[in-house]
Amino acid sequence: MTTRTTPALVLDGITLDVRDGDATRRLLDGVSLTADAGELVAIVGPSGSGKSTLLAVAGCLQIADDGTAILRSADTGEDIDLLADGAAAARVRRSHVGIVFQQPNLLPSLTVREQLVLMTRLRRILPPSASERREAEVRSAELLDAVGLGDLADRRISTLSGGQQARVNVARALMNRPELLLVDEPTAALDRAAAEQVTDLIVDATKRFGVATLYVTHDPAQADRADRILEMVDGTLTGKTGGDTAAA
Ligand code: ADP
Ligand code: MG
Repeated sequence: MTTRTTPALVLDGITLDVRDGDATRRLLDGVSLTADAGELVAIVGPSGSGKSTLLAVAGCLQIADDGTAILRSADTGEDIDLLADGAAAARVRRSHVGIVFQQPNLLPSLTVREQLVLMTRLRRILPPSASERREAEVRSAELLDAVGLGDLADRRISTLSGGQQARVNVARALMNRPELLLVDEPTAALDRAAAEQVTDLIVDATKRFGVATLYVTHDPAQADRADRILEMVDGTLTGKTGGDTAAA
C-alpha cells in the first residue's frame, strides 16, 4: 500500500505586484504548485516571465502580496511559513532552503571544503562546538562525494573549472540539509557536457536527500530530466507535458 503524504512544498495563489512608475505591474499572478520530497520540478518559460521572482518568493527572499507558501519539514512535521519576513525569513533560509543561483559567488581564496563548512557557521553567532565542527566536516565530505568532487576538497575555488564551481554551488546549497532546493539556471554559462553533469547531480541529490527541488532552466534537455515540467508565461504557471513522468 502506498500512502500519499502531503507534498513537502505547497504554493497557493502566489501573487506579487511591483510599482512601475505610477502603475503597478503584476509579476506573479496566482501561482500555485506543489512538490513532493524527492521530486524534481522543472520550471521553463521565456525570459522575464517571473521564474526567478517565483524562486525568490519560495526562498523567503521576497514577500508575496497574496497567497500562501508552506514547506513541511520532514524532520519535525512542522509547517514552515515561506512568507515569513525579517528574522524569521532569515532563519528559514538558513535552515530549510538551499538556493543555487546562476552565478556561484563562491569565495575564490577558500578551499572547496572551507566554502562548504562556512555555510554551517552562518547558522549561529556563537562559534561552533567541537561536535558541530565534526558534523560539518562529515557533511561536506559526504556532499563532495555526492557531487563527484571528493578528490578536490582541498583545492582552492579559484583553481576550479566553471563546471566544478557549479557543482560546489549545488553542494553548498545542500550543506544545511534543506527540505527545499531552489535552482536558478546554473547551467546557462556551461557547455553541454558540463550542463548535463550539473543536471545529473541535481537529479541525484533530489532523490538521495529527499529534497523538493524547483529547477528553473531554459534548456529543454535539462528540463526533460525532471519529474514534471511547468511553464511560466507572464507570471502565470501552467502544466506542460514532458519530464520523466508527464504532468498530471
Ligand atoms: P525570469 O527569471 O523568468 O527571466 P524574473 O522573475 O527575473 O523573470 O522577472 C520578471 C519580470 O519582473 C521582469 O520583467 C523583471 O524585469 C521584473 N522584475 C523583477 N523583479 C523586479 C522588482 N523588484 N521590481 C520591478 N520589476 C522587477
Ligand atoms: Mg531568471
